Order: sequence, then C-alpha cells, then structure tokens
Amino acid sequence: MRKAFKWISGLILLLLITVVIYIFGIAVPQTDARMNPVAVHDPYPVSERAKALHATLLVADLHSDSLLWRRNPEKRWDRGHVDLPRLREGGVDIQVFSAVTKSPRGLNFDGNDADAPDDITTLAKLQLWPLRTWGSIYERAAFQAQRLHKIESRAQNNLVIARKKSDLNQPGGTLIALLLTEGSHPLEGKIENIAKLYDEGYRAMGLQHFFDNELGGSMHGRSQAGLTRFGREAVLEMERRNIMIDVAHSSRQTVRDVLTLVDAPLFISHGGTISGCPKTANRNLPDDILLQIAARGGILGIGYFSGAICDISPKGIATEIIHAVDLLGEDAVALGSDYDGTVKTALDTSELAAITHELIAQGMKEPQIRKVMGENVKRYFAENLPEK
Ligand SMILES: [Zn+2]
Repeated sequence: MRKAFKWISGLILLLLITVVIYIFGIAVPQTDARMNPVAVHDPYPVSERAKALHATLLVADLHSDSLLWRRNPEKRWDRGHVDLPRLREGGVDIQVFSAVTKSPRGLNFDGNDADAPDDITTLAKLQLWPLRTWGSIYERAAFQAQRLHKIESRAQNNLVIARKKSDLNQPGGTLIALLLTEGSHPLEGKIENIAKLYDEGYRAMGLQHFFDNELGGSMHGRSQAGLTRFGREAVLEMERRNIMIDVAHSSRQTVRDVLTLVDAPLFISHGGTISGCPKTANRNLPDDILLQIAARGGILGIGYFSGAICDISPKGIATEIIHAVDLLGEDAVALGSDYDGTVKTALDTSELAAITHELIAQGMKEPQIRKVMGENVKRYFAENLPEK
C-alpha cells in the first residue's frame, strides 16, 4: 500500500513537472514568437550615408508592448521585437513602454464586445504573473510598471524612466523610457487610480483599447460613442496632472469630445493616415481630426503593422512618414512601431537604420529626418511632462 502511494505521488509529481516545463519552456515562448513575428527577410540596404546619419540621430519610438511578455528585456532574444540590446543596436534613445491590460478574444478592428473572454487574464495566469494581477486590470498596469522599475534599478542597464521634464536630459548612452497605459480601463472606474498610476510612473494614458470602456467609445467597440461623464472627469484629471493623452484607439466621437474638453496637445502613439492608406479607415483617424491634433502641437506615431499602413517594409514606413509630414507638417510625425503588440513587422528595433536609409532615398532632408526619427517626440515630451 505504502509503495503504491509512493509510486502514484511520484507519477503525479513527474506529470506536474512535465506540464510546467511544457507551459514555460514551450507554450509561452511559442505564443510570444507566434504573436510577435518579424517577416523573414534579407538584410535591408543601409548606405554609408544613412549609417553615418543614423548614428547622430536622436531616435524615439512611441509604442512598444514588450512588458506584456515573459521575456526579460535585459537580454537579447531571437523572438519578438524589442529588448535593451536590440534597442541599443537600433540607436534608440527614447522608448515608450505601453501596458496592455485587457484584450477581448477574437480581437478585430471592426467591433469587439467589452465582456468577451479576456486574453490578458489567460496570459497573466500562463505567465505566472502575481496573483493580484489575475483578477485586477489596475494591478496588471501596476505590475508592468514595476517590471520596468526593476530594470531601471540595475545601473548596468543605463535606463531612466521619464517622470518629469528634466529626466529627458541624460548623458549619451542612456535609454529614456516612458510609461503609457494602453487604454484607461486600469482605472476600474475610479478617478483616484489616476494618482496611483501616476505614482507608479505613468506619464501617458491611452483612453481606450479595442473595446468601449468606462471612459467612452473605442474605434473598435460597439457603440462608437464619445466620452462618458466619467471619461470627461478622467480626461480633466489627466490634463491637471500633466498626463499626456493618447487617442490611438479612441472612437472619432471620443477624440472630438476630448479636443473640445481640453487644450492639452494629444498624441497618437501608433497609427497612420487613411489618406495614405485608405483600407485603414477602421484603425486610423480621418485627416480632419489629425489636422486638429497637429495644430495644437500633438504628434502621430507611424505604426509598422498592416492595420496602420499599407506597406510594412522600411520603404513603406518611410513613404507613410513622408505622406504624414506632407499632411500634418514636419513637427507632427514620429515613429510608433507597436512592437511586441501582437503584430507582424518587417523589421525589429535593431534595424531602424533601414528607415533612415529609405527616408534619404525618398528625398527627405536631414533636418526633417531628425525630427521624425525622434526630435519631435522629445520636444512633445519636454512640452508636456511635469516640471517636477
Ligand atoms: Zn494598440
């Protein structure tokens, strides 16, 4: 009897170990690799001139979801799009890290139900995030910020999270990070959570993601509604606290309501233009709204994925950047990859010099290249981050 018990408990233990090894060693990495692929490609052309210019650029990217994945960004990986070694290789000086906290199953650009089963709940469990994140959207945002705090705390990473304007002035070689929520559902309907997220280091907040939330309509939700009463209250509180507002996934009516409600310059962390790629009408804002955002000093980050632009190659990204500059002016356009945001891209962040090459090849002048590759982001942050 005792022997049989030993055998059975031994077998159960073995089974458990196999399941754990399978989940963490195979299933989770495979999901990450499958969700964040880079198209197989020969090395992109980068001329000597482009290489030399790229080395002198301040490079900034407005959107990466890397903190969502069980992949320590301090190491170089052969999956996904972003980690510190690859950011350095790509010459990146400023990287926005966005926190995805809820994502309805069957995600699409046309219409999602807010109460569909949530994939981030599953991901939080499978990736063994702390228990407190399993049932709380707020805690998922807090946890992702805390992951970045840990990275910041290790001196060898040379990374600083921008919390105030003066944090933007760092010696060369420092990577400046900025925290953004992808949607404001982490508020869980409570205004006081804005202050808590601020204390966690968030200095930018998206209003919606793929579904309508307590603040108002998403571009990919069911209602296409504008700001709710709570949404108006939240937006005013964000403006009061100098939290930059990202309207990347908001419905047109929500964006119009925000433009009426506050004077703060808004930004679009990852997107493109419908006039540059007509089939993106369910992912991008119309030109008239983009022009209003640009007119008050806001910026548009050009995404590297097919929902945002027509051609995701470095050449296609450059073409869309040039189109956006023609439309909105050279001060209003930036990079907004959506790296590690469950998108397929043509290049990872180590290869950004290929975009500089294409901008030169398509006739953009050096001062404009400097602006769109990063200076516009730095200027926008400098104008909108709190003084202290
Ligand atoms: Zn997004």
